[in-house]
Amino acid sequence: MPVNHYDYNDNTQLSPHFNVREFRCSCGKSHETLLASELVDKLEALYTTLNCSKIIVTSGYRCPEHDKAVGGTSSGQHTKGTAADVCCYGQDGQPISSKTVCCKAQDLGFTGIANITSSYQYTHLDVRTSGKWYGDEVHGNGTVTEDFYKYFGIPKTEAKNILKGIDVSYCQKGIDWEAAKASGLVDFVIFQAGYGREYDQVDVQFERNYSECKRLGIPCGAYWFSYAMSADEAKREAQVFLQTIKGKLFEYPVYMDLELAKQFALGKAACSEMADAFLSTMEQAGYYAGLYCSTYYLDKYLSNSVKSRYTIWCAQYASKCTYQNSYGIWQYNVAGSTEHDIIGQKSIPGIVGECDMDYCYTDYPSIIKAAGLNGFTKATQPTEPEPTPTPEPDTEESTLQQILKHVANIDEKLMK
Ligand SMILES: [Zn+2]
Ligand SMILES: [Zn+2]
Repeated sequence: MPVNHYDYNDNTQLSPHFNVREFRCSCGKSHETLLASELVDKLEALYTTLNCSKIIVTSGYRCPEHDKAVGGTSSGQHTKGTAADVCCYGQDGQPISSKTVCCKAQDLGFTGIANITSSYQYTHLDVRTSGKWYGDEVHGNGTVTEDFYKYFGIPKTEAKNILKGIDVSYCQKGIDWEAAKASGLVDFVIFQAGYGREYDQVDVQFERNYSECKRLGIPCGAYWFSYAMSADEAKREAQVFLQTIKGKLFEYPVYMDLELAKQFALGKAACSEMADAFLSTMEQAGYYAGLYCSTYYLDKYLSNSVKSRYTIWCAQYASKCTYQNSYGIWQYNVAGSTEHDIIGQKSIPGIVGECDMDYCYTDYPSIIKAAGLNGFTKATQPTEPEPTPTPEPDTEESTLQQILKHVANIDEKLMK
């Protein structure tokens, strides 16, 4: 993850709502500020998702000395430039409950999240790269949850948080996209752009599917069917993919489709290398890249570093997805679904025959637009730099202390 170094007096507006000054260490010395761009991108996405009027960063970067002074370990997430403690304000000018912030931060893929004050107004957020930790400091150091919605008892209705989508290729000819959209079953689409490593292997429906989605405002992503048998070939495929999608805009990730038996026969190391070669090439060109693969092969043939490094589109034709690592989209078989509202739906209106269906659990459009990926331009409207923020006075005298103290607990866990 790129972590940038800024001079103490640097005044760079990093995104529409965040200036580097807001992340400065508050130890009193005028030293540089370390800051991960992914942290800012995700905070910007959070701003959009929560429809904030402002987000105050109460603590961003901390030099090791300052981290130690406020009770930290001197090597935690704040000292890496990957963490921020924030208070989010709604359009009514009031702080948004940390419970809501935790839930939305979870949807956006922050990997370290914790409520840090008993007033439920301040939230620790970080973008650490290995594993995750969700906590609630109010209820002690050991409070950890897998899911903030469950933990706080906040309903996560399918309609609101889980999007329904489909994926299509040349197999579905001449789709009536207006009918498909009108069905309410297509919140997003991932379509095949092409396959292999020759420039003439573009999916014959690709251009039409893309232009129809754009015409009708259906958010879309794309995938490339891989035939690669080496990392070099995988990289070459990614280059052809990039050429094919040049100039187009995708609200959803661009995926490598890895599913051939002959590829898995090469073994785990080779498969992981091929995925990394393909996906890093996409990333370097400014794309949000992900891996499409089935649960069985993800478990057996892909390294943990690949699985945690790239967003996963997991295929499993069953009533439940049993993949244990994190994933953003689950592709399921219509007939195999027993617990969802599309049960019995054998096809999508406007599409002849069956097509694969998907559930999406991640707010990709917010993340991708905020980060300026997949053809989108990062918004950089100049705004007045905010003064160095301080926590607002709170009824509870201990709030600031709580904010500072939490570091020791959280960072200790996050470092594991
Ligand atoms: Zn400092
Ligand atoms: Zn923190």
